[in-house]
Amino acid sequence: MIYYSTNKKSAEVDFRSAVLTGLPDDNGLYMPKQIPELPIVFINSLPNLTLPEISFSVANAFLSEDLSDDNLRTIIDEAINFDAPLIELDHNLFSLELFHGPTLAFKDFAARFMAKLMRFYVEQSGKDLIILVATSGDTGSAVANGFLNEPGIRVVLLYPGNKVSHIQEQQLTTLGHNITSLEIEGTFDDCQKIVKQAFLDPELRKLFSLTSANSINIARLIPQSFYYFYAYAQARKINDEPIIISVPSGNLGNLTSGLLAKRMGLPIKKYVLSSNVNDVVPRYLKTGTYTPAASIKTISNAMDVGNPSNFVRLMALYDNSVEKLRKDVSGFSFNDSQTINAIQDVYKKYHYVMDPHGAVGYLGLQSYLQQINEKVNGIFIETAHPAKFIDDVEEAIGTKVEMPENLKSVLNKQKRVVKLSNLFPSFKEFLLTFR
Ligand SMILES: *Cc1c(COP(=O)(O)O)cnc(C)c1O
Repeated sequence: MIYYSTNKKSAEVDFRSAVLTGLPDDNGLYMPKQIPELPIVFINSLPNLTLPEISFSVANAFLSEDLSDDNLRTIIDEAINFDAPLIELDHNLFSLELFHGPTLAFKDFAARFMAKLMRFYVEQSGKDLIILVATSGDTGSAVANGFLNEPGIRVVLLYPGNKVSHIQEQQLTTLGHNITSLEIEGTFDDCQKIVKQAFLDPELRKLFSLTSANSINIARLIPQSFYYFYAYAQARKINDEPIIISVPSGNLGNLTSGLLAKRMGLPIKKYVLSSNVNDVVPRYLKTGTYTPAASIKTISNAMDVGNPSNFVRLMALYDNSVEKLRKDVSGFSFNDSQTINAIQDVYKKYHYVMDPHGAVGYLGLQSYLQQINEKVNGIFIETAHPAKFIDDVEEAIGTKVEMPENLKSVLNKQKRVVKLSNLFPSFKEFLLTFR
């Protein structure tokens, strides 16, 4: 399959180059030229299939020309080795829990898939790879976890000092082995700038094979569509009513993957884009004008995004037409006190503990359901385990949140980190020690 750049200036490429380059040089994003449609018999058979079986078929529709069935199956089996259960809170109300992977956030799906895929390419080429990741929190630990102990691959994480939570920092700095964590004295933007500069540096490019594993790599979009098919499969086992899915959104990767699933033939009636007060896209849906803004800090911090990186992909799917987008997507936004109230309400009503991101998704679903007069299955996506945001969640529900074992063990591990300034020369000097 061919991938084009949304800016339409860079050359079209195959999947392997789209994955290994990450970004086209015209600063657009790679998108598949055609979106494969899955046969109706496959859709009807979904309730009888496991998550890895579904994942294989969905991925194969994109990748059959690029990877053999055996290679793809190995990648899927190693990457998608945890569940994505649909939890029924009430009649017609469900939470799709995407936090059962190793770092307890939905980013594990995409990051693990990309990691196993890159390992395959490294094995094929015999050339060692250094992966650079600038992270503001969750992405870095999911990516690093995916690459942990992969032969021939080193991961260098750059994160802004004092700007990530204690739990996030423990997840970023305690892996060891082939993972190196750099605490940068600066902001997330500084980290991103350093990574970009590294890719442009002729000396580094000559010495090393450098790759980025940022959130806009096309390899992260495809695996995020798997669990939409699996959610549908689980809902169909319960009833036949139409399905609405609310996606707590920041950079729009998750939502774009859901819309891709719909385009592939998955019968989802409507998607709800739920955001915190960083509401550029809900406002765009309302007014038709896109106005990026500086991001505002909230308790659902993985969605504090003022200019979502996947917006161009979303629009590419809808021929850049807001009218077409509105047919499939409704948008709502909520502030922190509404989010905390929702965590409280849902705990009282259903004894279910939501994290702040899932709570925004729940609120968006409720707002949409109030507008329609139809019996539907409402699903909101739980993108992170509530224990990752333990202080806010415990305060909201007034009781302790159970800490999962793998999070507990991370908290007791020794932190290993190198502190660097936010200037490129100090980073380069550090990287040169890898020679
Ligand atoms: C990244 C993230 C989001 C936002 O997902 P996008 O794909 O960027 O829209 C939501 N919740 C959590 C917990 C995340 O880590």
